[in-house]
Amino acid sequence: MELDDHAEELASDLGVDKEEVRADLENLVSYSVPVDEAKQSLRRKYGDGGSGGDDATPSAVDVGEITTGDGNVTVTGVVLTAGTRSIRYQGDDIVIREGEIADATGRIDYTAWDEFGLEPGDTITVGNAGVREWEGAPELNLGESTTVTLADESVDADYPVGGDRDLIGLDAGDRGRNVEVRVLEVEERTIDGRDGETEILDGVVADGSARLPLTDWDPHSEVREGESVRLEDVYVREFRGVPGVNVTAFSTVAPLDRDVDVSEGAPRMSVGEALDTGGIYDVAATGSVVAVRDGSGLIERCPECGRVVQNDQCRTHGPVDGEDDLRVKAVVDDGTGTVTAVLDRELTEDVYGGDLADALSAARDAMDRSVVADDIREAIVGREVRVRGHLSIDEYGANLDASEFAETTDEPAARARDLVAAIGTEVAE
Ligand SMILES: [Zn+2]
Repeated sequence: MELDDHAEELASDLGVDKEEVRADLENLVSYSVPVDEAKQSLRRKYGDGGSGGDDATPSAVDVGEITTGDGNVTVTGVVLTAGTRSIRYQGDDIVIREGEIADATGRIDYTAWDEFGLEPGDTITVGNAGVREWEGAPELNLGESTTVTLADESVDADYPVGGDRDLIGLDAGDRGRNVEVRVLEVEERTIDGRDGETEILDGVVADGSARLPLTDWDPHSEVREGESVRLEDVYVREFRGVPGVNVTAFSTVAPLDRDVDVSEGAPRMSVGEALDTGGIYDVAATGSVVAVRDGSGLIERCPECGRVVQNDQCRTHGPVDGEDDLRVKAVVDDGTGTVTAVLDRELTEDVYGGDLADALSAARDAMDRSVVADDIREAIVGREVRVRGHLSIDEYGANLDASEFAETTDEPAARARDLVAAIGTEVAE
C-alpha cells in the first residue's frame, strides 16, 4: 500500500481530514517510524482505540519479531503446513487445524480453532491472532476474533511448503506431515480410549532413512504388513522416547504403485550422531565398552510389572517375591558420545557364556550374586562392540534397548574396506 492509501484508510476509519492524516503520517515516516507503528500512533492521536477498544486491529509484525510477551498480532505469511486433528475441549470434540506459517524472518506454529480454509502454499494475512506460549516458544492462536484473508503480496519464505518428509526428518510435535513408507509390522489392539474400548493399529513403518513406530487411531485397511503407502496429514508424537507416526480419521492412506525402499540394516551412526537425533527407533553404532553399570548381572524383577526390584521392594507394588533374571547395562563410548546399551536375558546369556541356571549356581557357589556381573564386566569391558537397537533419551540419560550386541571381530577388515572405498580405490576381493 502507498502512503496515500494508508492515509485514506486512516481518515475514513477515524473520520478526520485525509490531508491532515497524510501530513502526520509523512512526518512520522520521515523519522523512520515503520508505517504500521505510525498508523497506530495516529489512531491513538485521533482517539480511536485509545481506550483499548476490542476492535482495534493490532499492528502488523514480522513472524521473527513475535515473542511470548505479545498479546494479539497481525501477520502476513505463507502457510507451510495444515494438519487436521480432533481434540476434546471442555467436553466437546472439535476439529482443529495445526501447522506453520512463515515469512522471510522466520516461521511460527499456529492452531486454528475455526475453519479458515488454510491450505499449504496460500499467502495469507492473519488479523488479530492471539499469541500464546507453548513450551517456551510463541504460537499463534486463530480464533473467533481472528480474520484470515488471502494476501495480494507474495512472501519470500525460505522453508519448504507442504508436509512431505523422510521419516528421519520427523520430530515430535510435527503436524500435517506426509510420508511414503512400507509397513513392516502391524497388529490390532484394543485400548481403553476416551469413548470406551477402541480398536487401533500399532505397528512399525520404514523408508530408506529410518524405522518408526506407527499408531493408526482410525484403522485403515490399507495399513497392512508389507504394503507401501502414502500417509497424508499425520502428526508426530513421542512414543517410547522416539517420534511416533500417528494416523487419524483425517489422514489419508493411499497404496503406492511402487515398493518403498527400506534399508535392511539399521542406519549406522556414530554415537554422537545418534544422540543428536533425540531418539531413534533402530540404529547401529560401534564403540568400546567402558563400564558395566550397577543393576547388571543377576537381577530380580517384580512379577507384576517386570520392573527391577531391590530388596524385594517394587516401587509400584511394594513387597513382592522377585523373579530372577539376567541383564547388562553396558556403557558404550566411541569418542563422540556415550550410551548405555541395555541387554535382555538372551543377549546377556551370550556375553556371559551361560544361562540363568548357570548364573544362579555360580552365585550359590560364591554365596554372592554379584559374581555374575563381575564375570560379565571381565568379559566385555575394554572390548569394541557393535550394538543395534532402540535409542531413547530422557532425564535418566541415553539408553539403547539392544536387539544386537556383539564384539567386532571382523570390523577392522570391514573398516579398512570402507576406508579404501572412501578414497575411491577399487578393492580386489
Ligand atoms: Zn511391580
